[in-house]
Amino acid sequence: MNQVTIRSMSSRSQSAQRAKVLVSDDDFNVRLLTRQCLEAEGLDVVEASSGPEALDLFVRERPDLIFLDVEMPGMDGLEVCRRIRGLPQGETIPIMIVTGSDDRESIDKGFEAGATQYKTKPLNWSLLGRDVHYMLRASNAFNALKRQEDRLRYLAYYDPLTSLPNRRSFTEQLNRILKRCQRNDTHAALMFIDLDHFKRINDSIGHGRGDRLLVEIAKRLTLELREDDAINYFSDKNAAEDDYQGTEIARLGGDEFTVVLSDVADTLHVERVARRILNSLSQPIALQSHNPVVTPSIGIAIYPQDGCDPDSLVRNADTAMYAAKAEGRACYRFYNEKMNAQAVEQLKMEEELRYAMGHDQLELRYQPQVDSASGAVVGLEALVRWKHPEHGMVSPGEFIPVAERTGQIVELGEWVMHTVAKDCRHWDSLGLPDFRVSVNISPLQFNQAGLARFVRAFVEQSEMAPHRLELELTESAIMTDAETNIAKLRELKDIGLELAVDDFGTGYSSLSYLKRFPIDTLKIDQSFVADLNSPDGAAIVDAIIALARTLKLRVIAEGIETPEQLDYLVKLRCDLLQGYLLSTPVYPEEVPELLRRNYLDQLYPGE
Ligand code: C2E
Ligand code: MG
Ligand code: MG
Repeated sequence: MNQVTIRSMSSRSQSAQRAKVLVSDDDFNVRLLTRQCLEAEGLDVVEASSGPEALDLFVRERPDLIFLDVEMPGMDGLEVCRRIRGLPQGETIPIMIVTGSDDRESIDKGFEAGATQYKTKPLNWSLLGRDVHYMLRASNAFNALKRQEDRLRYLAYYDPLTSLPNRRSFTEQLNRILKRCQRNDTHAALMFIDLDHFKRINDSIGHGRGDRLLVEIAKRLTLELREDDAINYFSDKNAAEDDYQGTEIARLGGDEFTVVLSDVADTLHVERVARRILNSLSQPIALQSHNPVVTPSIGIAIYPQDGCDPDSLVRNADTAMYAAKAEGRACYRFYNEKMNAQAVEQLKMEEELRYAMGHDQLELRYQPQVDSASGAVVGLEALVRWKHPEHGMVSPGEFIPVAERTGQIVELGEWVMHTVAKDCRHWDSLGLPDFRVSVNISPLQFNQAGLARFVRAFVEQSEMAPHRLELELTESAIMTDAETNIAKLRELKDIGLELAVDDFGTGYSSLSYLKRFPIDTLKIDQSFVADLNSPDGAAIVDAIIALARTLKLRVIAEGIETPEQLDYLVKLRCDLLQGYLLSTPVYPEEVPELLRRNYLDQLYPGE
């Protein structure tokens, strides 16, 4: 067996052109005779004496044709044939099945197993060589045809320069996507990308380099969007057509590219993708002694509001692209005016927020948390404010989501902590009663890998007793991927902090997790407090307070605005109370006065 392999390999390397035949038969004499006949015809031969050996040699030797005896030990020839047909290279290889029986049924079985030809023993040795040549020729012709067909299919659907799908596949893709969006009632976004001043660049660097530039642009688009799974036209996506979500990239020609996002949930996602593209394409491109910077202009149209059919969507994305050019290029524009205005507003806010953080425009307010038993202020929630030079006070509800999206929230969160520590040091110097400070941690901050490390370092250097610091985490942040978050919360808890679940009741808490989370406080969401006069609202508040008691957690109600709400919560013996009725969030200067105040009169009027 080894000998055969060595021999066939050496003869193959002498002449790469010679075809190789795998002869599988358990009868040594048959193999010998076959070998002699075939070698005389200028063919190389490898021999297998069993089914498994034949399979093994097929994979390792890559023969051009196979002889299979039906009766072999280990695995019969029919099974070997079936298995080879199932392998990547085995689909088209000519297979000749050789057997002793020539009844109709066994011949049918041979063809069903995938045989190309069927021969019965005894073989006519004089004709064997000719038959093999004939089969090989037919197989070569078939393969050449198939290659040509693949090539034609490729050229019909792909751009040969960048290997991206071309205009024709783009049109078909868009059609399919819109149909699916219609069926599933989802949205899609079409982006038209045109390179700014490409003609001028192309003329100045020469067309050869211009081509390479386009290839690089295609590569960047693909890499940037790969996680969204660029389409491979030939792969069979039809199977899971309705579940398929993805990004289709195409080159329409020249310097025009398109990206189609299907099943988009919101325009923010589309914007994020547009920005990623803008950023990635605008990096300098290295082209031997030239490093041109090519910026794109991107026009975006959304299905269905900007067009229900491919034509109008394409036209409107194109219009939006021209608007982007008119706007000064290197930017994206939505076709829809309202979306445009929103996008421009968001971008402006991002830039202004960046400026604000470096220029002392952020401030903190503190809202007291009152103990329902003693009437004393035992905690303060730090709430950030943005003193905007034009718009006045901007509420965190407006800029926290922006900071989250850009990642600025991490820096912002650190600023909040340091400012809290500074304020606490000042208050402590005044000899006030002990109190706790709660700091809000946004989901993105919580998901940062370095949060615990930062907090630990912060606690050490700020000299703040850790038990005086409470982090408010939102229910949805900790419940998403709860299993991982248990460890994360432990890490924070190990620092000695208090942990509260903010806006409790609005997410979907699993009680089994809640039991395992190392948390101290449940903070009833203010919407339930606002709803207390309805039976449903009251029932939820009752349930949360009962749950907190069972789990031995502190419970706090926020957003208390009316005496009736306060009354209800005091009666239920909700531990802590917070809301405008007791106090709005105040300036740091007002905190000392608050801490000395007692709210008993307000909690139990007339007692
Ligand atoms: P939150 O943590 O649930 O904060 C409570 C919000 O309710 C605060 O709004 C507070 O001013 C407001 N509030 C307090 N009492 C009442 C009341 O009686 N009635 C009503 N209607 N509202 C009341 P604010 O300050 O606008 O903050 C909104 C949200 O912004 C906060 O919700 C929190 O999620 C976030 N936030 C505020 N400061 C920070 C911060 O420093 N970092 C992070 N990551 N998020 C913050
Ligand atoms: Mg809060
Ligand atoms: Mg809250």
